[in-house]
Amino acid sequence: MTVRKKRIGLLVQTLLQELKISSPPVPVEKIAKSHGVTIVQRSLDDGVSGFLYPGKDGKPAIGVNTFHSTTRQRFTVAHELGHLLLHDYNDVHVDPGDFVIHFRDEVSSSGADREEREANLFAAELLMPASFLRRDLRALNSLRLHDDLQLRPIAKRYGVSLQALMLRLTNLGFLDSSAFGS
Ligand SMILES: [Zn+2]
Repeated sequence: MTVRKKRIGLLVQTLLQELKISSPPVPVEKIAKSHGVTIVQRSLDDGVSGFLYPGKDGKPAIGVNTFHSTTRQRFTVAHELGHLLLHDYNDVHVDPGDFVIHFRDEVSSSGADREEREANLFAAELLMPASFLRRDLRALNSLRLHDDLQLRPIAKRYGVSLQALMLRLTNLGFLDSSAFGS
């Protein structure tokens, strides 16, 4: 099964428009709360990034590991929100600590793996909207996207990790994947 890129793109657009968000950093907790989600901060085992409790009474909760960095917590909240809005879970869903590694969305896959890819794509789109990035990159005079010194301030502005930003830029075709080498 293929990752539903178009649906995810439209969903993110709607969420950003609802709260009139037009520049980074995208307030992911505010967006989640505006959809009735309670954010629960927990000191979890390092092997756990977060969890989603769909809530049978319409009161979903997203749990996030406070031992992780702020950028990672933001990604986790966005990932769990993606599950909530895209997938139909009746029970608690726990995400392991390494889900960011499975970030790329090109490969079609099945079942749970597809859901993880969709949640990651949703998180990347929400935290790093393509339209925002295009505007910001256009504003840079000389594009040296493999250059940490140029990318770090952008990652900071978006409230994401450098790794997440690089993967996003690669998936959008802004960054050659060979840049990861050496
Ligand atoms: Zn997940």
